Amino acid sequence: GGALLALSLAACSGEGAGGDGARSTDKPGDLTIGVSMPTQTSERWIADGKAVKEKLEQKGYKVDLQYAGDDIPTQSQQVDQMITRGADVLIIAAIDGTALSSQLQAAATAKIPVIAYDRLIRDSPNVDFYVSFDNYKVGVAQANALLVGLGLLNKDGSKGTKTGPFNIELFAGSLDDNNAHFFFNGAMDTLKPFLDNGSLVVKSRQTGIEQVAILRWQQETAQKRMEDLLTSSYNDRSRVDGVLSPYDGLSRGIITALQNAGYGTGTNTMPIVTGQDAEIASVKLINDGVQSSTIFKDTRLLAEQAVIAAEAFLQGKDAEANDTKTYDNGVKVVPSYLLPVQTVYKDDIKPVLIDSGYWTAEEVATGR
Ligand code: BGC
Repeated sequence: GGALLALSLAACSGEGAGGDGARSTDKPGDLTIGVSMPTQTSERWIADGKAVKEKLEQKGYKVDLQYAGDDIPTQSQQVDQMITRGADVLIIAAIDGTALSSQLQAAATAKIPVIAYDRLIRDSPNVDFYVSFDNYKVGVAQANALLVGLGLLNKDGSKGTKTGPFNIELFAGSLDDNNAHFFFNGAMDTLKPFLDNGSLVVKSRQTGIEQVAILRWQQETAQKRMEDLLTSSYNDRSRVDGVLSPYDGLSRGIITALQNAGYGTGTNTMPIVTGQDAEIASVKLINDGVQSSTIFKDTRLLAEQAVIAAEAFLQGKDAEANDTKTYDNGVKVVPSYLLPVQTVYKDDIKPVLIDSGYWTAEEVATGR
């Protein structure tokens, strides 16, 4: 009964985002923004939460920030609580992109606009806006960084000096994270010609996203999978030349497995390993020549876009999109604001990460 009532109430409200519970006469101090983040195990989400909170508080808003410890029921409960405590806008980075439908229905019924943060929330009509990076391009950039690292391409995209064949292995993120699919698709579209002409070989033959995905983006799971790959596919004195890894945490697990197997000592050079997020421990590894690259996504800019969108909704306006066709969540195409990404090799650490104030030289040196 409750669900049906909620549904018909939402249908009758006749207003979408912008007609929320907040009134234009409300002062910022009377308005609360619920911010739901997935986990604190990855430092990017800690930085995201902190940046969103600070920027909203600077504008005088109240912020209800919660982390869900990568547990789906916890996140559902936290979002439910934000709604009952009277949030005026919700900003949500979902753990499982399909698990929040009933919470979002409750939000719609209470006329609370919902902004999906970084990860698209799927299978719900009640997602009003999406702020993220160009996730397909992240995958393209990761694949290009692998090709450049191997010498098949130059940084300017021209043909490199090497021809291969090179043995590579592929990793993808958590299947319940919409982004994982965009990253993998972007990467595979880019690697395809090289796989087709034989300059790249996936020796394990594990090339489907279901075969290579790592649930909840867990470092230990990636380490275990890399260990298994080395035992099963590289026990014939052949070597791995490169690993497509979609996230720095996974890259560190992969690197540990490779190092334990003797890579990175003497003439047994480290394979080319990619990454994402410019996490400090991985930036140090890049600086030390252990990891090859990462993809930098400036979370400060993402936080800023989330705040701009939230404020538009609080003022009864629509948030301004720069993409209105890419992100179909299964029910509707969600208007999006997508930010650009940047590939970081060792030479880019100073100009891109240190000079912009993202990390200090000391943090890069110590990895902390
Ligand atoms: C984010 C990545 C992050 C990954 C793991 C993805 O949804 O877009 O930046 O590496 O989750 O936390």
